[in-house]
Amino acid sequence: GVVLGIESSCDETAAALVGHDRTIIAQAIASQDDAHAPYGGVVPEIAARAHAERLAPMIESVLREGGMELAALDAVAATAGPGLIGGVMVGLVTAKALAMAADIPLMAINHLEGHALSPRLAEPALEFPYALLLVSGGHCQILRVEGVGRYRRFATTIDDALGEAFDKTAKILGLGFPGGPAVERLAREGDAAAVPLPRPLVGSGEPHFSFAGLKSAVLRAHETGRHADADIAASFQQAAIDCVVDRLRIALDTMEPVSALVVAGGVAANAAMRSALEALANARGLAFSAPPPRLCTDNAAMIAWAGQERLAIGVTGDPLDIAARPRWPLDPAAEPVRGAGV
Ligand code: ATP
Ligand code: MG
Ligand code: FE
Repeated sequence: GVVLGIESSCDETAAALVGHDRTIIAQAIASQDDAHAPYGGVVPEIAARAHAERLAPMIESVLREGGMELAALDAVAATAGPGLIGGVMVGLVTAKALAMAADIPLMAINHLEGHALSPRLAEPALEFPYALLLVSGGHCQILRVEGVGRYRRFATTIDDALGEAFDKTAKILGLGFPGGPAVERLAREGDAAAVPLPRPLVGSGEPHFSFAGLKSAVLRAHETGRHADADIAASFQQAAIDCVVDRLRIALDTMEPVSALVVAGGVAANAAMRSALEALANARGLAFSAPPPRLCTDNAAMIAWAGQERLAIGVTGDPLDIAARPRWPLDPAAEPVRGAGV
């Protein structure tokens, strides 16, 4: 069977058809980068309006491209949170209307579950349980993924998410928004040892993250005027990678055994990050898995796939009056950490 996925939780409007055999039958994605660039970040009202304008025609074109009738789908899956609530509501309400009109199940998907399961869309051999580094624009967590809907959080950030740190570094260096890809490109031309930068929390016994101090150090290094931008970008990226590898070591020591180390979320598109994590996995005798970059950043194929995964464990759908959620932790039992978000 085929599931239609809808994503609208941030500034990507996306729709995709994904088969239970992992085929991505059709997909479309529209980024709003140009609309938000003048503001240096995502403006919620602009995002919600853009989703509302683009989503319906996009879904029509994806169905046409895939040669599918709505009623022939196994389910329609939409991000129901966490994210910018206006955008989430646009996608969820659209999915409810389609589910009702075609009399097919609705799947209200946790966006983070979409990221968390995306590696299994790309790699059929990846089995539970696996250790997951989830690094995106709004989240920075280490989880033990034990099954569909079964996530245990071992670490989170006490201040900024890693994608946010990339975006702020890009802003300091005048590279525009979104910053991750631009910082990565510039870092290739720089010396990662040129600028001394802190590695916050490295060596601490709990595997949590902190990136606010690193960002401030980047700002100070830039203000001295003594360093080339490429050296700052490369040194920042290396400091971030060193933090992630150290924190993962602690988390892997703490959690029950896993067979694989997996990375997902927008920052997982970063090639230097991927190779550092692959080296860590090799050193630990773990398999390593990372989705192709286009499945790392926000997309609808991962939302459709999360719908397929839930169907496969026997979930028959969610009620049509289910609410959109601005916050929705993957591990509801995880304790808050010193003022951090979920
Ligand atoms: P969340 O998933 O937490 O709700 P989000 O959906 O905005 O947040 P994603 O689309 O998953 O986040 O990821 C976007 C983030 O990934 C941005 O912060 C962006 O800068 C970062 N990013 C994207 N590509 C790269 C890259 N090549 N290197 C580093 N960071 C990157
Ligand atoms: Mg985006
Ligand atoms: Fe995301």
